[in-house]
Amino acid sequence: MPSQLGKYTLIRTLGSGANSKVKLGLDKTTNRYFAVKILKKGNPNLDSKFLELVMTEVHTMSQLNHPNIVNLVEYGKDGVVEKSTGVKEPVIYIVLELATGGELFDYVATTGRFSEPIARFYFHQLIEGLEYVHNKGVVHRDLKPENVLYDQFFNLKIADFGFAAPLEGRDGSGYCKTKLGTESYMAPEIHMRKPYNGTSVDLFASAIILFITFTQHPPFTKAVPEDPFYKLLCANRPDLFWKAHSKNKPNGADFFSEEFKNLITVMLQFNPTQRISLAEVKAHPWYNGPVATIEDIQ
Ligand code: ADP
Ligand code: MG
Repeated sequence: MPSQLGKYTLIRTLGSGANSKVKLGLDKTTNRYFAVKILKKGNPNLDSKFLELVMTEVHTMSQLNHPNIVNLVEYGKDGVVEKSTGVKEPVIYIVLELATGGELFDYVATTGRFSEPIARFYFHQLIEGLEYVHNKGVVHRDLKPENVLYDQFFNLKIADFGFAAPLEGRDGSGYCKTKLGTESYMAPEIHMRKPYNGTSVDLFASAIILFITFTQHPPFTKAVPEDPFYKLLCANRPDLFWKAHSKNKPNGADFFSEEFKNLITVMLQFNPTQRISLAEVKAHPWYNGPVATIEDIQ
């Protein structure tokens, strides 16, 4: 017997993060499915911190509504999950639009790497969603394949606004300061604990996501000058970076198109002032190449 949370029957686990479990929930009153993000309560010390974080996440999401983001449905601070055994558990919960496809990461891992037109199809949607979020004055700060979902119509959905912050920084300086996110997707300035521009770090992570969808592996382990791959970009030797990545690829040096190499190189620059802006990404020749249609993807 599945657990119950108010009007939602919690059918199965869709995914989990550091502090949460996300369940497939059926709203018994409408027969519609949602994703229900559940945070367990219980530790009074953690609870106040949790609540603050969840409220920030909910507040951010309540300002957003776009086809390329996971939209907020409702939330509750005092939910009770009732298990089939009769055990009751107090929880904080967030009800979200369901991204039926799951994580783009799993999709790439199981179906294989994307062709350029398919990678472009998803990248366009990632950039559209990101542009919307940035225009709303929000930066995401935890973009990674696990937080990029898709639905049954192959609409890409940016999820997990748990680390999102105001674009202008919490102190209005225009910069964020907290080191958070996920190590392998962090821009170098975050590793160096410098104040950073949120739009620039979101774009940096987007380039890594694009690279992964096209190759099934990340461009480097960590964006620090000691990393064997990233050091080549730090030293302004993109030629060596691409040579190293072309090794063992099916068609060697021709595996990556010149436009692709250029876009990734300019998005992953060590110095944030040398990276291209979102508008420049949209004007880039690779971005404007042929795009897969839904028929190509199905
Ligand atoms: P956390 O903040 O703990 O990382 P997320 O919001 O990223 O939690 O959710 C964890 C996982 O749950 C995601 O990586 C994804 O697999 C799944 N998930 C989250 N939201 C949805 C959704 N709206 N639809 C489908 N699956 C989801
Ligand atoms: Mg997450």
